[in-house]
Amino acid sequence: MKDEQTYRGRFAPSPTGPLHLGSLVAAVASYADARSHRGEWLVRIEDVDETRSKDDAERQILQTLQRFGMSWDAEPVRQSARKGYYERALIHLIDNAVAYRCNCSRKAIAAIADPGIDGYIYPGTCRTSPPPADAPAAWRVRVQGTPLSCDDRVFGTITQDLARAVGDFVVRRADGFNAYQLAVVVDDAEQQISDVVRGADLLWSTPRQAWLQTLLDLPRPRYAHVPVIYGADGRKLSKREQADPVNATSPVQALLAAWQHLGQCLPDTLPRDVDAFWRWAVPRWHIERVPKDRRAFDD
Ligand code: GLU
Repeated sequence: MKDEQTYRGRFAPSPTGPLHLGSLVAAVASYADARSHRGEWLVRIEDVDETRSKDDAERQILQTLQRFGMSWDAEPVRQSARKGYYERALIHLIDNAVAYRCNCSRKAIAAIADPGIDGYIYPGTCRTSPPPADAPAAWRVRVQGTPLSCDDRVFGTITQDLARAVGDFVVRRADGFNAYQLAVVVDDAEQQISDVVRGADLLWSTPRQAWLQTLLDLPRPRYAHVPVIYGADGRKLSKREQADPVNATSPVQALLAAWQHLGQCLPDTLPRDVDAFWRWAVPRWHIERVPKDRRAFDD
């Protein structure tokens, strides 16, 4: 366990809609883990893809967190205001010759590539034949065909060969937006996050993030991936697909539902309010009880 003094966690919602039960689970887990280590807890608004951000979602999310008794320790930051950090990281990758320009269309990739864990495995076309200097292009980082292992507090050690699972991946899109993978790594390091606790849908993003941390000489936080909530159709609840917002009129019930989903023991009597819930819950948080999200292995 890390020194409690140095624990800093974060919740990093994308402002694509109000919080639903699935995102509440991630928030509750990261908050409980931070507070049970007497650590700090930050909120970062991941609006890196500005085309997906919805007006008002940020305000709604912050308000819901407050109603649910989760208070942050520093003013929330927004990725859209942090582009300078991502730019510097990209320049570092370019200067080290590990990033290259790519103007392959999705269609062109789909025509020749094999499916991977997150779309098609990039076949490396532009590695060897770069696009013309004036063509709009994305930037990709080169990956290696060697197994990369990451430790996870819920899943144990996971191993992925990036070349076989994703291929060289995008860090800056052709439309100029930075990719989630780059922004999250830069932010976690710049904000000195010691512990990332988030949904298991991101488990297999961790090796890409670990690879970027290696290339950028950044420290690797500890990771814990908690179970996602799936809808009746078997798909992950997502704000984009308009999952029902959490019911802020009975926050204690919603917190208990999230707590139970995280494998934690329930109280004998219903806590009176959200503050009573957290006073009861924080000392009883046990990450060892969090179940592995089996579907993280399905894809
Ligand atoms: N912004 C991501 C989401 O809302 C979470 C990213 C992370 O925690 O690393 O799903």
